[in-house]
Amino acid sequence: MVTMDKIVSLCKRRGFILQSSEIYGGLGSFYDYGHYGVLLKNNIKNLWWRDYVLNRRDIFGLDSSLILHPDVWKASGHLSSFTDPLVECKKCRRRFRADDLEDENRKNNICPSCSGALTGEKRFNLMFKTFIGPVEDSTSVVYLRPETAQGIFVNFKNFLSTYGMKVPFGIAQIGKAFRNEITPGNFIFRTREFEQMEIEYFVKPQTDEIWHKKWIRERFDWYLKYSINVKNLRLREHTPDELSHYSKGTTDIEYRFPWGWGELEGIANRTDFDLKAHQKYSGKDLTYFDEEKKKSYHPFVIEPSAGADRSVLAFLIDSFTEDEKRIYLKLHPLIAPVKAAVFPLVSNKKELVEYARDIYRMLQNVFIVHFDDRGNIGKRYYSQDEIGTPFCITVDYDTLQKDSVTVRNRDTTRQDRVKKENLVSFLTEKIYS
Ligand SMILES: [Zn+2]
Repeated sequence: MVTMDKIVSLCKRRGFILQSSEIYGGLGSFYDYGHYGVLLKNNIKNLWWRDYVLNRRDIFGLDSSLILHPDVWKASGHLSSFTDPLVECKKCRRRFRADDLEDENRKNNICPSCSGALTGEKRFNLMFKTFIGPVEDSTSVVYLRPETAQGIFVNFKNFLSTYGMKVPFGIAQIGKAFRNEITPGNFIFRTREFEQMEIEYFVKPQTDEIWHKKWIRERFDWYLKYSINVKNLRLREHTPDELSHYSKGTTDIEYRFPWGWGELEGIANRTDFDLKAHQKYSGKDLTYFDEEKKKSYHPFVIEPSAGADRSVLAFLIDSFTEDEKRIYLKLHPLIAPVKAAVFPLVSNKKELVEYARDIYRMLQNVFIVHFDDRGNIGKRYYSQDEIGTPFCITVDYDTLQKDSVTVRNRDTTRQDRVKKENLVSFLTEKIYS
């Protein structure tokens, strides 16, 4: 399996993911997505959105604000329960998550870094705090959302009345969330600013366990559909003591990262906890009226919550392939940042360059394509392989005679000769089927 060093170095070399504020020495566990990183992440988000929002009639989309009314976090339990046990070293002042410490250190209160004495455990809230308006006092405190879910729950009633949603139905949201993790790490796996792809799926009470199973299967299969190797995925049910305060049951989809299995997505049965809590704190009725049975109830909620950044990392690791000659990303064509690259065989023959530019313009209307006339063909293949471009199209001397180009397949390096007039349909078939 590939090492993290190789992944991080490829990400930097090809501009997928970069250290944030690098010229200032970087900022702990914050990252920027460069050109190919943005394209890759957008593809993942767009496929998720297409599969769950655009291609279904029972799920509608939402983009709620990052900062919500502070009472939202009282009702959701995040103000009181969204905490980690924190200890601090009295000597070097480093802070650690108590449950991350080795047993010896935790038992004897010894700092793993300098062997100084540790303080007792304090509960540390993971929400980022800030202030609204010019006055920094307790009445103006607000929080950056630690999950996108609550923006969905507080809009529940709007979706019922505006779109006439009927249970079972879902509300989907992709967006950033913030958690002041005590120990972030493993590149973009655990960061303090991250992006989620979440659905809150509202179902009749008593059908919740069936729906929970359905969503676990559905989401597991989604990763396979876009070519994640089944050997690198597994399901793991949370033990009762690790369940979140709102959850009746959670199953994680885990990916086999180079450092071990880690959560890619959690699928939780949130029950009616959130709707009931918001009803209590807001004083607004958040029940659903069943017209057939003529009675109101609080729906149960199944929540598939995926990490967009973790997905990016999993797709990069899973597709990373290295042989004696080259490194290439064997990405599914729909996930690949660029679908095809167009080259003139040489850059100093005007007819070839112009023809290649024509092909590039023709394809540009249909796919994300790249044009490259720098260096030699070998170097261009090398760089397209490393960003995972499935097809490289070369305009050569035969092109001028026969109006055909060569199309090189990233994974097999085999070349097909394709007529210019058939090129769009040739690529469409390979990318979409
Ligand atoms: Zn210390």
